[in-house]
Formats: sequence, C-alpha cells, structure tokens
Amino acid sequence: MLHIALHFLVPALIAGACYRPQWLRQYGVMLLALLIDADHLLANPIYDPARCSIGFHPLHSLLPIILYVALLLPPNTRVLGIGLCVHILLDLVDCVVNSGSLCFFSSSSD
Ligand SMILES: [Zn+2]
Repeated sequence: MLHIALHFLVPALIAGACYRPQWLRQYGVMLLALLIDADHLLANPIYDPARCSIGFHPLHSLLPIILYVALLLPPNTRVLGIGLCVHILLDLVDCVVNSGSLCFFSSSSD
C-alpha cells in the first residue's frame, strides 16, 4: 500500500519543488507514467505483491527503461521522463525491499 502511495506522492513532491507555479500540470504529466502498469494485465495473476515488476513486465524491462532515461534529455519530454524514471525507481526499491536482491535482469533462476 505504501508503494502505491509513493507512486502518487513522490511525483507530487518533485512537481511541487521544481515546477511552480504550474506544478499541477507537470504532476499530471508525471502521473501518466502510471500507464506503464497496464502491462500487468498481460500477467497471470495480474497483481502479485511478491513479484518484481522490473525485468518481468514488458514495459518494465531494460529496453523501455533505456527509452525512459532518454526521454529526460529533450526538454519537451523531460517531465514525462521524470515520471517514468521515478516510477521505475520506486518499483526497483519495492523489488529490493521484497527480495533483497538487485539481480532483476538475470535469466538464470538461481
Ligand atoms: Zn510499475
């Protein structure tokens, strides 16, 4: 539950700190990053609190993450890139908390 709340709180803090007076508009753009969780609909079960999203769901895999980082570079996509990178970082923290491991892109099962 805290994890989900952080997906709303952290972008609000960034927007409030960095994008006044239009923070609400930028906050809305950052919240668009939540749409990448639509890839959970491809998994069975759709939601598993013990599963690590990073490296498992298609929009949480390495190539999309590289794209999210690249979106930070052009000024006109930067806010969306911030939202996406914050989303991935929060999911990454969730993985570390749940598993104690940073080996998300490993193909081996051990
Ligand atoms: Zn996610």
